[in-house]
Amino acid sequence: MVGAVIDPGGDLDIVLARAKQQGVTIEKILLTHAHIDHAGATAELKRRLSIPIEGPHEGDRFWIEQLSAQGAAFGIKSEGSFEPDRWLVDGDTVSVGSLSLMVRHCPGHTPGHVIFFHQGSRFAIVGDVLFKGSIGRTDFPRGNHAELISSIRERLFPLGDDVQFLPGHGPLSTFGDERRDNPYVSDAAHGTP
Ligand SMILES: [Zn+2]
Ligand SMILES: [Zn+2]
Repeated sequence: MVGAVIDPGGDLDIVLARAKQQGVTIEKILLTHAHIDHAGATAELKRRLSIPIEGPHEGDRFWIEQLSAQGAAFGIKSEGSFEPDRWLVDGDTVSVGSLSLMVRHCPGHTPGHVIFFHQGSRFAIVGDVLFKGSIGRTDFPRGNHAELISSIRERLFPLGDDVQFLPGHGPLSTFGDERRDNPYVSDAAHGTP
């Protein structure tokens, strides 16, 4: 079986041991965005496995260039910067083995943030765009709250209420649950019945 590592922020020995245990050959790295907790171990993983890096959107280039500085600031060990083999844009498709994932560009938390959506299983991996009951921080350089809200309401929610998502932090939820209950992006909070 082949697979991808999405957002290697660290703990590569654990990630690689788990892949081996499950019989998964890692064929690529996918990135939602370039904060240290999501991309800090990308350079090391590429060096160890010689596999391509796809994502994020080029809007996050400045974050990639600052990975060493981010690591120093947060006390996280990182081999730092890298050059993705492929920058992603809205509407792209990425493959993992025989699976196709749709890419949506969802800026706001970072300008180059993307999410990955698998149509067949109705499952999305959304990084730090949306969480169960919350949304991504926008107080970092080039964060934009209004843009984040539009990304969620115009690019995530139209994928369907039934879509389950894995956020970058915390538990799973569905777009439908967040449309109903999330205080930042619910229909009620945005005046739609
Ligand atoms: Zn982040
Ligand atoms: Zn994060």
